[in-house]
Amino acid sequence: MITLGIDIGSTTSKCVLMSGGEQIIASSLRIGGLGTEGPAEALSDLWDRADIAPSDVSRTIVTGYGRNKYEGADGEVSELTCHALGGRFIFPDLRTLIDIGGQDAKIISLSEAGRMSNFVMNDKCAAGTGRFLDVMAGILRMDIDELDECAAQSVSPASISSTCTVFAESEVISQLANGVSRPDLVAGICESVASRVSALARRAGVVPRVCMSGGVAKNGAVRKALSESLGVDIDFDPMAQYFGAIGAALYAHRQLQKLSDNK
Ligand code: ADP
Repeated sequence: MITLGIDIGSTTSKCVLMSGGEQIIASSLRIGGLGTEGPAEALSDLWDRADIAPSDVSRTIVTGYGRNKYEGADGEVSELTCHALGGRFIFPDLRTLIDIGGQDAKIISLSEAGRMSNFVMNDKCAAGTGRFLDVMAGILRMDIDELDECAAQSVSPASISSTCTVFAESEVISQLANGVSRPDLVAGICESVASRVSALARRAGVVPRVCMSGGVAKNGAVRKALSESLGVDIDFDPMAQYFGAIGAALYAHRQLQKLSDNK
């Protein structure tokens, strides 16, 4: 049975095709979330990559910020449920998931059996989300993917004292004008995101095994700073940005199984 999970985020659309609820057979990602061509482009890319046709898909579940407005799925499920399912699929003994997306950050606590036992979320303030990194990368005229490598060259990370993105933006501009090096500034920016999210994580409680998901998980400097601040190892998988879509495809598979059990 082939299932499709679609995660329409605030900034990025992700799709994952799974076979039998066990194997990921194709994935695609396009910048652009709700209200853009992102979801359609991600799907079109998926069909180009996959060796199967849309008619081969038995069930489609959509999740993410834009899930309520999407009409091409058989059902919709919350991001929290999907991220927890996706995280546990990749790391079967996962207990704490730290998800940093384009416009929010969430900490999801899981019981030993994998049930969500608690969650804490910041969706009110851009600091501590991908938005903060997007704004800062824009000021430094860098691609978001370049921040990681640049931060690794830092000698003495800059201190970004403002907790508000707008004030931090002015602070970065003035530090840049005062000759602070780009690597030090970028390292300070990554540490600032980590420090916001670690405060959130402490509120939720951090039990190993811990992993990160969402687009910001791809930034090793944020992962390292977060790990140091929380005093735990933080695992990362290259599919981190797809956890929601993986969870949606798994949820679709579970629903199919239930339907066939009830027959
Ligand atoms: P959403 O589901 O809200 O759209 P995602 O989990 O897809 O969020 O993550 C999108 C965010 O991840 C964006 O803010 C983007 O800038 C950030 N991002 C993507 N790639 C990287 C990277 N290599 N390093 C840091 N941040 C990244």
